[in-house]
Amino acid sequence: MKAARLIKQGNDLTIADVEFSQPKGKQVLVKVRSAGVCHSDVHYKNGKWGEYTPESLGFSRPSLPLTLGHEIAGTIEEIGDDVMGLTPNQPVAVNPWEGEGQCYYCSIGEEQMCDNPQRLGINIDGGYAEYVLVPDSRYLKLIKHLSYDDAAVLTCSGVTTYRAIKEIGIAPDKKFLIVGSGGGLGTMALKIGKVLGIGELIGVDINDKAIEATKEAGADFGINAMSENVEKEVMDITDGHGVDGIIDLSSSQKTLDVYPKLLSKLGTYIMVGQFGAQLNMNAVTAVRKAIRFKGTYTGNHKDFVEVIDLAENKHIKPNVKYVGNLEKVNEALKNLEDLKVSGRQVVRP
Ligand SMILES: [Zn+2]
Ligand SMILES: [Zn+2]
Repeated sequence: MKAARLIKQGNDLTIADVEFSQPKGKQVLVKVRSAGVCHSDVHYKNGKWGEYTPESLGFSRPSLPLTLGHEIAGTIEEIGDDVMGLTPNQPVAVNPWEGEGQCYYCSIGEEQMCDNPQRLGINIDGGYAEYVLVPDSRYLKLIKHLSYDDAAVLTCSGVTTYRAIKEIGIAPDKKFLIVGSGGGLGTMALKIGKVLGIGELIGVDINDKAIEATKEAGADFGINAMSENVEKEVMDITDGHGVDGIIDLSSSQKTLDVYPKLLSKLGTYIMVGQFGAQLNMNAVTAVRKAIRFKGTYTGNHKDFVEVIDLAENKHIKPNVKYVGNLEKVNEALKNLEDLKVSGRQVVRP
């Protein structure tokens, strides 16, 4: 089968012909119908997070070659002998945030934090391929109305933003600021926030096209940080209180230096982006305002199941851009590197 593989960090992915294994035990072989192209793939490909290397951040490099691609939807091709309740040809979304099932974090249901992670397209071969071998059938969810493209991007941008919103707290009287609101994660955060009934959603991004996407995704306000004074706009909208929650999808130096000041008392700042910046805030300010800073990394299996159901039931439509077949994956990654993308690109292997 064809797969887009990372052979050497820093280089483009190579389209290679690789063997696929027959599923054994609880494994399932899935035919990939759609694979989302995520900004974190740019980091994995380059082996860099801003100026930082994996070693300096305290995590290991993947063993190569590796098939990237962690946002996967497709149909069941073949099941292992111990798989119950699934049959070939069923449409599925794949939860890529898999653990080995044995460590403390797996035991408390936070498999995405596993000590020995088995994340598809990150630690083990992923979905930029015609087929992907899923280690355990429990990580599959049958889909009903969702398209393969929509289901694929929900497995990462949906899960991540849904969990980030839960970390702040779902409440109808809260005002949230979404930083980087016009991208794949941003538009998803807005759509999910809307159906969950978050009081007011403010998006901030850096060009008119992204602001257009922000408003289309349901934001109550869209602020262009290049042409408007974000601090003044946010304080006007919130009557000088600031926002209850900020989801920073970039977490770049520019955003971390400015946006924490826009939190209200008891506010929560969620860092999602991995651009390699430092958080600088006077602890007295943090204490006196009783504000919280949290990093979140994707979500657990419960978050995955909930967000897929939410999207099915509430007809959440991710902002998806089809870019072509597997051969187009390097072009899609380059678009992300050049910050030329609004919405989420997908390839169909
Ligand atoms: Zn992703
Ligand atoms: Zn584990």
